[in-house]
Amino acid sequence: MSAHTSDDTRLLHAGAAPASLPRTVGPPIQKGSTVLLPNAAALYDDANHLTYGRAGLAAQACLQDALAELEGAHGVCLYPSGIAAISGVMMALLKAGDAVMVVDNVYKPVRRFCDNVLKRFGVEVVYVPPRAAPEDLVAGAAANVRLILLESPGSLSFEMQDVPRIAALARERGILTAIDNTWAAGLLFKPLAHGVDVSIQALTKYVGGHSDVFMGSAAAKDPVLARRLADGINHMGWAVSGEDAYAMLRGLRTLPVRMARHGASGLTVAAWLRDQPEVAQVLHPALPGAPDHDLWARDFSGACGLFSLVMRPASDTAVDAFLDALRLFGLGFSWGGFESLAISCDPQLAVRGSTRDYGGPLVRLHVGLEAPEDLIADLRTGLDAFSATA
Ligand SMILES: *Cc1c(COP(=O)(O)O)cnc(C)c1O
Repeated sequence: MSAHTSDDTRLLHAGAAPASLPRTVGPPIQKGSTVLLPNAAALYDDANHLTYGRAGLAAQACLQDALAELEGAHGVCLYPSGIAAISGVMMALLKAGDAVMVVDNVYKPVRRFCDNVLKRFGVEVVYVPPRAAPEDLVAGAAANVRLILLESPGSLSFEMQDVPRIAALARERGILTAIDNTWAAGLLFKPLAHGVDVSIQALTKYVGGHSDVFMGSAAAKDPVLARRLADGINHMGWAVSGEDAYAMLRGLRTLPVRMARHGASGLTVAAWLRDQPEVAQVLHPALPGAPDHDLWARDFSGACGLFSLVMRPASDTAVDAFLDALRLFGLGFSWGGFESLAISCDPQLAVRGSTRDYGGPLVRLHVGLEAPEDLIADLRTGLDAFSATA
């Protein structure tokens, strides 16, 4: 820069981004709203140039590529949270006068979005039993149903749907299907390969894997549908940061290794729990003999660490005594991180249309990467506290 230029100007233009970067294993974390274009013609040449940072820079693009690989997708959209992914898909695909069918065991904040926002925008929401026969479910769809939202297994009570069958029947009627596939993390079940139109997941859970970043994704195989989802994000103005995208990409690298451990430890703990006198039933679709095991065995290649147990009938105080006695299981509403967690579920079940009696209090566990024998010892202590209080 010329020696005559003032410090004001020199400090603003010195130290600008280099034209090229050394090649590292991971992408650069670029921070930028403004993107500098090479010439005047490029300013309005959206087809060949990224013109604004909100759509994401290097780290976001690399994460999208990696997720497209995982999901077998043409396009993947990133959202600021898992809920934003689900609400974003519905906002992009539905309009006033349409109806959406939603399985009744859906993640509770999704129901909140449907009841508080979709209905306000003139979209009808129909909740359907999570184990409805596919033929009945699709035949029961009114002419204005545009989308069926599935969650299989449900993340509290683990009912599964025959997803490929529902997707095939819906397609015959021109109804789109979407699934919250967070339990399988895009790895253990491949919705797009089974005919589902949109595969959604809360990356916050297993892809992030460390309980410290929020993000969601929606993947589609059909380029037109992928475009509609991307337009939806652009219209809403959502963006995710390069730092967060980088953290998700780092999580993806170890996803299969972590999932193998979560799955194996979860099954070890679930099988042990099933033999304990305080436990009436274990709701874990990968456990032989458990509800919906056949569907899981047909369509899934593995299990994660999330499942529920039904305690013998007891007071809320006994359930709380069980939870409060746990030392290795934290008490908290999330899952997919490296650490074990537990919650009581019954207060969340009350919002459902078709409340099922599970025969006792429902408790959900997330089995983390700790040694399973240590987790079992911790649970035994909890069950002793439960028995002493029941
Ligand atoms: C956590 C969760 C979500 C939402 O993810 P956030 O990133 O917390 O918004 C959606 N679906 C399921 C099944 C979840 O467990």
